Amino acid sequence: MKKLKVLHNFYKSPAWLAARELKIMSVNGLCERCGQIGIEVHHIEKLTINNINDSSVSLNQDNLELLCRDCHNKEHKRFSKEVRFDEDGNLLNPENRF
Ligand SMILES: [Zn+2]
Ligand SMILES: [Zn+2]
Repeated sequence: MKKLKVLHNFYKSPAWLAARELKIMSVNGLCERCGQIGIEVHHIEKLTINNINDSSVSLNQDNLELLCRDCHNKEHKRFSKEVRFDEDGNLLNPENRF
């Protein structure tokens, strides 16, 4: 369960929350794929235990994409049918996180 704790801590970190806000503002709060209200910031290059402390990946604006719930779920369904997100964009079934 160690991995999950690291990721959980990351999503609570001020650095991430600031990067997330910046991303949302830079695209006027709209989903970058369909133009609906975007609520979840997606990492284009997936976060892993190996890159989560690398800010050129985890906090890089170019690696972030603001998505609505639908587009975010669609994106992750490429990898798994079971993936679901909570309001913060965290996976609810974390065994599929990687
Ligand atoms: Zn969308
Ligand atoms: Zn995502």
